[in-house]
Amino acid sequence: MKFYSTRDCAQKTYSAAQVIKQGLADDGGLFVPESIPSLSEADIQRLTALPYPERAADILGRFLTDYTAEELLADCRAAYSESSFEGDAAPLKLLDNRAAILELWHGPTAAFKDMALQIMPRLLSRALVKTGEKRTALILVATSGDTGKAALEGYKDIDGVKIIVFYPVDGVSTVQKLQMATQSGNNVAVRAIHGNFDDAQTGVKMLFAEEALAKELDAQGVFLSSANSINWGRLAPQIVYYVSAYCDLLSEGKIRMGEEINVCVPTGNFGNIFAAYLAKRMGLPIGKLICASNTNNILTDFLRTGVYDRNRSFYLTMSPSMDILISSNLERLLYFVAGHEKTVAYMKSLKETGRYEVEPEILHKINETFIGYFADEEETAKTILTYKQDFDYLLDTHTAVACSAAAQYRADMPQDDRVTVIASTASPYKFAANVYRSLTGKEADSDLAALEQLREVSGVEITYPLRGLESRTVRFRETIMPQDMRDAVTDFAKQ
Ligand SMILES: *Cc1c(COP(=O)(O)O)cnc(C)c1O
Repeated sequence: MKFYSTRDCAQKTYSAAQVIKQGLADDGGLFVPESIPSLSEADIQRLTALPYPERAADILGRFLTDYTAEELLADCRAAYSESSFEGDAAPLKLLDNRAAILELWHGPTAAFKDMALQIMPRLLSRALVKTGEKRTALILVATSGDTGKAALEGYKDIDGVKIIVFYPVDGVSTVQKLQMATQSGNNVAVRAIHGNFDDAQTGVKMLFAEEALAKELDAQGVFLSSANSINWGRLAPQIVYYVSAYCDLLSEGKIRMGEEINVCVPTGNFGNIFAAYLAKRMGLPIGKLICASNTNNILTDFLRTGVYDRNRSFYLTMSPSMDILISSNLERLLYFVAGHEKTVAYMKSLKETGRYEVEPEILHKINETFIGYFADEEETAKTILTYKQDFDYLLDTHTAVACSAAAQYRADMPQDDRVTVIASTASPYKFAANVYRSLTGKEADSDLAALEQLREVSGVEITYPLRGLESRTVRFRETIMPQDMRDAVTDFAKQ
């Protein structure tokens, strides 16, 4: 299997290892597979009998053909082990006969980013060997919270790789700060910076762009790399859990082989839902993909009108991982539906005017699969409360947005009786203060106190990785100025 860039009409090809190492194509496009491998009913039947790591190795092997089956199995077993994902990697909780919640937050940081970030560093480490790379990859991350911690957990103690994370000192929650400051591992560094997320992000972008720094690091046998969500190495592992959910519905007798399901995904950068689209294209029986947004409903508008327009207000919501105005992975869908040339034109228009519009026939093709809904803050809070009352199920804020979207779809399309799988992307304890407020109408005493207060009102145990945070040893206390980020990187590279 070869890959090429969404923007390269000449279709230069790359191996999977190259694609994982490089992240983004030189022309600014995203890597996509040249074809989509197929998944037959016999394949699905066979996978149904297997545990999650084996399902993962099978699906990944269809895309990453320069990795051996043994390598992938070893990596998937290590990534999705019982010690990282207590119980199961992606358990499915049935709500009623027509809806099931796919819990993707049983990993070490209690959010779905773990599903990809536990495996991708292992794939990168092998990619370095496969491409003859002798240098160490130094992963540089600017984070507004969740990605930083998930990346640290994924890359810690991985061969051939180091990671440094920068976060805005006043821009993340106490829980997030503690999670990062107490990070273990021999190859990790964390620095708070004075400033906001944009300062951290701009600083990181400048370091990536600086040729003198690249030379300096090269002399030390180090090169910079990113853990960005547009890397194919993060996308491919996300296909697995949709296949896995289908297998689990089959085992539970909730569907017959071949019966279609719908999938509803709380969406930000369009990575998670695009993985579901790939599963469908492979042959997994999926009907509709319901794209759920919060008040930042640019995708809802796009799916209804064909106009993608980022010239609009940006809102901070209680589902912050979906507060996004540029959903980068949408480019991959455009490529599959409209081809290289049109994708290049849309992206050029987006860059120059902040807007593009797809032709009616392209929108029609997209709408054969995708439908968009959004939930505002009030609706999100209401959904958290009603799910607790009706199903005794505690939703996180992002998952609540998806549940609202799924309910809106059900109301609009009463004739569609397919089972809907709703992706749950975070533990309710990850956003405890907002979940607590949604349930009680009251403010928690503090961000940290909210964990215990939520446990008291909900009767649900605190998710394991978030227990006892305040008693862990703090390893990283330094707060630096943005202009000192460069020195932090070069000092860490020398260690
Ligand atoms: C990242 C994230 C999302 C959005 O996923 P995309 O792949 O960017 O669409 C949703 N929920 C949570 C909790 C996340 O961390």
